[in-house]
Amino acid sequence: MTEFDPVAGVAARISVPVGFQGEFLTPGDEGYEEARIVFNRRLSLRPAVIAKCSSVADVQGALRVAREHGLPIAVRGGGHSGAGWSTIEGGLVVDLRPMRSVRVDPDTRTAWVSGGSQAMDLLAPASKHGLVPSTGLFGSIGLGGLLLGLGEGWLTPKYGYGNDSIEELEVVTAAGELLRVAADSHPDLFWAMRGAGANFGVVTAMKLRLHPLPEQVVGGNITIGEDGLRAATDYFWDFSEHGSRDSWLLGVYRMPEDGRPLISLSPGHIGPREEAARDLADLRGLGVPVSDTLQEMSYLDLINTAKSEEYPPRYLWDAFHFEFGQDPEPQKQLVLALQPLMPPGAALVLWRTVPVDQPVPSVARRLPGITFHIGGHWHDPAEDEMYLRWGRETTEAILASGLVTVAANTVNHVSSMTNARVRDLYGPADYTRLASLKAVYDPENTFRSNANIPPVT
Ligand SMILES: Cc1cc2nc3c(=O)[nH]c(=O)nc-3n(C[C@H](O)[C@H](O)[C@H](O)COP(=O)(O)OP(=O)(O)OC[C@H]3O[C@@H](n4cnc5c(N)ncnc54)[C@H](O)[C@@H]3O)c2cc1C
Repeated sequence: MTEFDPVAGVAARISVPVGFQGEFLTPGDEGYEEARIVFNRRLSLRPAVIAKCSSVADVQGALRVAREHGLPIAVRGGGHSGAGWSTIEGGLVVDLRPMRSVRVDPDTRTAWVSGGSQAMDLLAPASKHGLVPSTGLFGSIGLGGLLLGLGEGWLTPKYGYGNDSIEELEVVTAAGELLRVAADSHPDLFWAMRGAGANFGVVTAMKLRLHPLPEQVVGGNITIGEDGLRAATDYFWDFSEHGSRDSWLLGVYRMPEDGRPLISLSPGHIGPREEAARDLADLRGLGVPVSDTLQEMSYLDLINTAKSEEYPPRYLWDAFHFEFGQDPEPQKQLVLALQPLMPPGAALVLWRTVPVDQPVPSVARRLPGITFHIGGHWHDPAEDEMYLRWGRETTEAILASGLVTVAANTVNHVSSMTNARVRDLYGPADYTRLASLKAVYDPENTFRSNANIPPVT
């Protein structure tokens, strides 16, 4: 006897919306299995429908079908959510990945990108005009998820966070209405969507401000063993607080299988050559390098060398925050004490978050300090429990230290999110304002596969 498949049972009741131009995939359809894969393969969920949308009308049609059949929905941009927010068991995925068109206007130094575009889709066309968007480190991340959260990367200290560059959004609401959202049109929503955007609608297009493309960058990394661990840690903290605005800095602590701790420091200096040489002079000399790939390169090469698809496919992430202005010694001691406890596929990844001017205020936090990110990437499903246990124990130790702000700056770097944590993330006043806006724009909480803010009237 064939076993009853409840997901296929739900799918069987649903027909393709009239006029739908994209692909409407249900279990058993060719392409369904491939379409249900998201970046974090640990989250292997089976949606009843994956609506691969090719237009605003497709998005509206998919939302209508979900509403009529009472299906929970998830919206997918680039599919890189660590928490698996862009897939959903037994529900409908509004998959925007076919919507990846980009139009650069060199005269206004802006670009329009469709809702499923990835950073790489914009980088090359913008660079032809000597322009660049402020994105994350990887070309394959969806601009939707990245910028509706915050968007941190090499250009942040100089040009601001990715979502500071949003000038306008085209949004389909839960009711299927198409809104223009900007500083002069639904300004309350414009404030909310830059930081809590996934809660309020499907972004089908965004207008982004572009910045001057750096002539060259110094990128790569220098990896140092145990002899230089302490000096490299001091360097990282000092540079994070006082270093040049022309460079971001990433510090990655690992514990390989041979039991010898390593730290890699990765700058991305976009300033003039002489300034980069001066700012980064002390990087070499912190210890005997295990490897040194620091070199001048183009900005596009810097982004293109980071390939998310080369990571082991199962992962967990979480992020915390060290404030500047505290005694940094206990913070450093905490990181150094956690390093030997890591499994080989794990990393403690730290980066600087410096204050930057915001053209139009948004809800996204930008606490100056150091983001302290814990992450594990592995291949074998049999190792899931070991990595998850490490994640839980590390999180407990970090919280028990009392040295971190629980809320990092953004929803983008977490694998799990409780409502208490969402409140912490935005702070009580902003959370209350967001909950009221949610009641106006999404009273049924249709968009809840995210760091959710339930509506409050
Ligand atoms: C390997 C890797 C590297 C990363 N590097 C960086 C980095 O350098 N800097 C950084 O800031 N972050 C980074 N991140 C975090 C990343 O910004 C978040 O995971 C982001 O949410 C991913 O966006 P996405 O569109 O690819 O993901 P998705 O899983 O598709 O979406 C994430 C969330 O956004 C919503 N969403 C996506 N698009 C839309 C849309 N068009 N309209 C409405 N809602 C939408 C989804 O519903 C979901 O809730 C990285 C993540 C990974 C896995």
